Amino acid sequence: SLLLAIETSCDETSVAVVRDGRHILSNVISSQIDTHRQFGGVVPEIASRQHVETITLMMEQALEQAGVKPAELSAIAVTQGPGLVGALLVGGVAAKTYAMALDIPLIGTHHIAGHIYANALVHDIVYPCMALVVSGGHTELVLLEREGSFRIIGRTRDDAVGEAYDKVARALEFPYPGGPHIDKLAVSADDVIELPRAWLEPDSYDFSLSGLKSAVLAAINQARMKGETLRTAALARGFQESVIDVLIGKSMRAVREFGARQLLLCGGVAANRGLRTALAASCEAAQIPLLVPPFELCTDNGAMIGAAAHLKWKTGEFTSLDMKADPQLSLEAWSVGSPTA
Ligand code: ATP
Ligand code: MG
Ligand code: FE
Repeated sequence: SLLLAIETSCDETSVAVVRDGRHILSNVISSQIDTHRQFGGVVPEIASRQHVETITLMMEQALEQAGVKPAELSAIAVTQGPGLVGALLVGGVAAKTYAMALDIPLIGTHHIAGHIYANALVHDIVYPCMALVVSGGHTELVLLEREGSFRIIGRTRDDAVGEAYDKVARALEFPYPGGPHIDKLAVSADDVIELPRAWLEPDSYDFSLSGLKSAVLAAINQARMKGETLRTAALARGFQESVIDVLIGKSMRAVREFGARQLLLCGGVAANRGLRTALAASCEAAQIPLLVPPFELCTDNGAMIGAAAHLKWKTGEFTSLDMKADPQLSLEAWSVGSPTA
């Protein structure tokens, strides 16, 4: 297939041309981070407006860089959800317009399936495999028994990992998005403030980040009240180590229990150096191949949407032109061959 794939679920306007779900012909990304930074986070109304302003240009650039004419496209893929509803709508309208004008199928695509299948753009995925999804809005362990089949075996009960990183970073007065700043600080620290690990029930694959986040905020407040200098790097390292320990512990247990042949790391937080390094070591010890996309395919982009949409191209599961943007779209229900899809 030759797919034009559109991603506008949050604060990146991105359009890609992807061949057969694995070859990136173009992947243009316009990030709004500089706009949202002054507000300390993503402002939904501003995000929608910026998507409107840039989407047409991104579509043109994606086709031009790929050297592909609209008439050559097999289908239009677009993130249907989850995400910010106003932001999703912009991509949805653009996708429908193109699909209608070119008279080719529309493929409404799940954003998290995209993060997972970003791996297919650079690796050969074998099944069954386990995906650890760590992003701004999601923290999930997903079992893929077959290609395109998604079963969530664990998820966060409160904050997502990226969200916790951003909140801790904000408390330490780093600009949005704070995750990379905490990562850098943690890796450079030469001592550590130990913080608790949220293992939850022994057999649970769920996560909880809010207790850890509160512990960091409490440590910051305590230091301020006592007039002590804050050991920022040691605190960042303590936070990062606690997060990583639990993510890795649960992922490795899930890999064993479900007989996964690979572990796929994905989502924006997969860019975290501490996590990548520690997970690589654990996987090597367990002799489980670890797949991680390159940095630029970890955060939101159109190419990953094209990779996931190709699954539905193969099964001929297309989306009607009255597709609704769905901020709550279910990953499991988006599985290939699923009756509710
Ligand atoms: P979702 O995919 O769940 O809808 P999203 O698309 O907003 O959410 P992504 O773009 O996948 O999320 O990831 C952004 C998140 O990744 C931010 O919270 C950011 O702080 C975090 N992040 C990016 N790099 C790092 C890093 N090196 N360490 C930790 N967190 C990071
Ligand atoms: Mg983003
Ligand atoms: Fe994302």
